[in-house]
Amino acid sequence: MAATIRRLDEAVVNRIAAGEVIQRPANAIKEMIENCLDAGSTSIHVTVKEGGLKLIQIQDNGSGIQKNDMEIVCERFTTSKLATFEDLNNINTYGFRGEALASISHVAHVTITSRTKDSKCAFRGQYSDGKLKDSVKPSAGNFGTQIMVEDLFYNVATRRRTLKNPSDEYSRIVDVVSRYAVHNSAVGFSLKKHGTPSADVKTSPNASITDNIRIIYSAAIAKELLEVEDEDKRLGMKVKGYITNANYSMKKGIFLLFINERLVECSQLYKAIDTVYSTYLPKGSSPFLYLSLQIASQNIDVNVHPTKYEVHFLHEEQVIERIQKCVEQRLLGCNSSRTFYTQSLITLPKAGQVDNPSTNSQTEEKATGSSETREYAYNIVRTDHTERKLDEYLQKPVSSLSPDVVECQPIADDAGGAQVASSEGKRGMEEKRLPSVSATGSRHKVTLTSVLSLQRESEASAHHRLREMLKEHTFVGCVNRSFSLLQYQTSLYLVNNKNLTQELFYQIMLYDFGNFGTLKLSEKTSIKELALLALQLPECGWTPQDGDKQDIAQYACQFLLAKAAMLSEYFSLEIDKEGNLCTLPLLLDGYIPELERVPLFLVRLVTEVNWEDEKNCFKDICTETSMFYAMQKEILPIPKSQRVTGEEQEWKKCVENVLFPAMRRSLLPSEERAKDGSFLEIASLPNLYKVFERC
Ligand code: ADP
Ligand code: MG
Repeated sequence: MAATIRRLDEAVVNRIAAGEVIQRPANAIKEMIENCLDAGSTSIHVTVKEGGLKLIQIQDNGSGIQKNDMEIVCERFTTSKLATFEDLNNINTYGFRGEALASISHVAHVTITSRTKDSKCAFRGQYSDGKLKDSVKPSAGNFGTQIMVEDLFYNVATRRRTLKNPSDEYSRIVDVVSRYAVHNSAVGFSLKKHGTPSADVKTSPNASITDNIRIIYSAAIAKELLEVEDEDKRLGMKVKGYITNANYSMKKGIFLLFINERLVECSQLYKAIDTVYSTYLPKGSSPFLYLSLQIASQNIDVNVHPTKYEVHFLHEEQVIERIQKCVEQRLLGCNSSRTFYTQSLITLPKAGQVDNPSTNSQTEEKATGSSETREYAYNIVRTDHTERKLDEYLQKPVSSLSPDVVECQPIADDAGGAQVASSEGKRGMEEKRLPSVSATGSRHKVTLTSVLSLQRESEASAHHRLREMLKEHTFVGCVNRSFSLLQYQTSLYLVNNKNLTQELFYQIMLYDFGNFGTLKLSEKTSIKELALLALQLPECGWTPQDGDKQDIAQYACQFLLAKAAMLSEYFSLEIDKEGNLCTLPLLLDGYIPELERVPLFLVRLVTEVNWEDEKNCFKDICTETSMFYAMQKEILPIPKSQRVTGEEQEWKKCVENVLFPAMRRSLLPSEERAKDGSFLEIASLPNLYKVFERC
């Protein structure tokens, strides 16, 4: 038998609807706190009994409610804050639907006592089911509004049953009040259980956000906070906040999120940020985050859920990504960070003072409270790279540690050495220590779309963290020609010189395109002869089937001669009419590539470059040139007897003073560099401490 469809009693409908807005005491308190803030209060006191189920009382010192309005405040859809639907697009206050008080009054007994500034007394009204029960009566009362909510859910048995644990409800209330107190640090909040003298949350008016984080959450958190701030005009959003640095973690993270002043939840954003932290924090632990977002109100849809907890916005993915990046950047490198570095990374002077780090404390008072400053040695790192290089700690020069470097030398002016095929070629183009650099006059702006598009590709594949690391690194020393040591924050990295310098030169090629200086060879050298030299190299892989070496060399020379105009204009690679190489591009002041690689470079220009298509052609030439310029593992050995001792360390100086500074300035390491072992973390100070702590 079909059940009869009956129209629901209006009171029941209202109760059901109210139950969606007000699901538990904490929701009611959130709504009422927002009303207090909308009314411009600077002090908000909350008192509850039995987790808010028996009584919630909120007293504020805001604008108060006019006597006339007292009659209708608890009716549905009465609000002083929104008149038309269009206003929804431009909400500056928390409340906007006139639904909160009405809903509460459908599921509880509500008493409002309110006094406006211009009123001689307060007025009081009692409400049930959205209606004023009696008339509004004059009463004694302070300026501002006091709202009492009694017996929440007295008429909703099912809800009462699910909320039978007052202490659980109370902790949710503590949570909501705490969050609002942090976000509205200018407002003094208090929360206490009825009948107890002391407050469980108490903040003073005009405190700072970090003060309140310290008081409410803990000094340990407040001590490790990094301030974040970012704006993306295109996305119409701003972020501000405080996040804990990588030294701090806790089992269950805390995430305070406000969007347009409203406490909300956004699990996708939380996940995105947590991922960033997962690289830094011990497994299974999370950070403390407080973020306040401003999103252009036309980009946000607050009207998703009656509790308004969950917010959706346009461009959600991009906004999340942007915030994620901002957090990552902040976490990674920040010499100038106020709260993190001034507190723990003041220049570590000489070794030996590490034991007495308190001499370094200059903690920013406001953020951390000077009394609880404590520095941990594992956070203190040397940041002044002019002090104490690796070499100083070693008896012998570093190079002698590594057998494959012992025989190596930077190219001396003319070291001869007939046993090395290419040294013959070198004789012809004796390197000048101070190459004549003729600057090309005013810079040409790069306008070729092919080059611009290669630049964009390079930027798109840039690895953000590695860039930050290079930018902020401290050079520790050269291990050998293949590797250098860098310090970044509290970690030590072994980095691959060749891979990084090759990428550096590739990018210099792209960004200085057409603007290179020239490196003049003191004697011009026949390309044909250089090509012949190259053909003798095993790398060249010549076999008799390839044809006569003379013919190939002749062909290579003709080929490059045909491209001479372009090579000269764009790449400062001059070839004269007779087929002699005269100049090479000067890519980086103070750096001269290993000239015995010129022959191979030239031959590869002929064989490895796609000359058909402009973009590929430029790309290949830049790649070949960068391979030629890159710091190579070996220098061709020069007999001991011919070594110029003073120049033994020349390449090291160049690595430290020319190459790495250039990388710091401009290199955008590609994602590939993060995967190919170009950067290896070999020690991390905090982890070392962990190891020792276990001993
Ligand atoms: P909304 O906040 O969406 O406008 P509410 O139901 O929360 O709706 O509040 C209804 C109205 O009651 C508000 O628009 C405001 O005029 C008034 N009001 C509520 N609480 C306060 C308060 N603490 N101080 C001053 N006015 C208040
Ligand atoms: Mg409201």
